[in-house]
Amino acid sequence: MKVVCRECGETIAVLVADTRRKEIKQDKEAVCEDCAISEEDVLEELSDLEHRQWMHWSKYVAENHDIPEELREKWEKNWKPYSDLSEDMKEKDRKWAKKALAVFKETSDGGDME
Ligand SMILES: [Zn+2]
Repeated sequence: MKVVCRECGETIAVLVADTRRKEIKQDKEAVCEDCAISEEDVLEELSDLEHRQWMHWSKYVAENHDIPEELREKWEKNWKPYSDLSEDMKEKDRKWAKKALAVFKETSDGGDME
């Protein structure tokens, strides 16, 4: 029995014994290494979201409250897309993205999202 990737149809495993039929069925959801979204990719997506959330919040605060000019200037430098941030700034977003990912892992059982 072949197990194929649900994304590209590539064979990812060849199972021989009939006793593994149950596993074969479960493997219908299998994805090959090339098609699987890596944890690193997920982390970058989440970091992007963290950054957008921060921008949303900081712009609101800057518009509606008296904040020191120094702080406003500091914030303004980072009111740009996540992809344009310095590595140092990206790292700050990743710190929160990792926390979100940890919660996600704790609350999902083996990645089955249905
Ligand atoms: Zn694939």
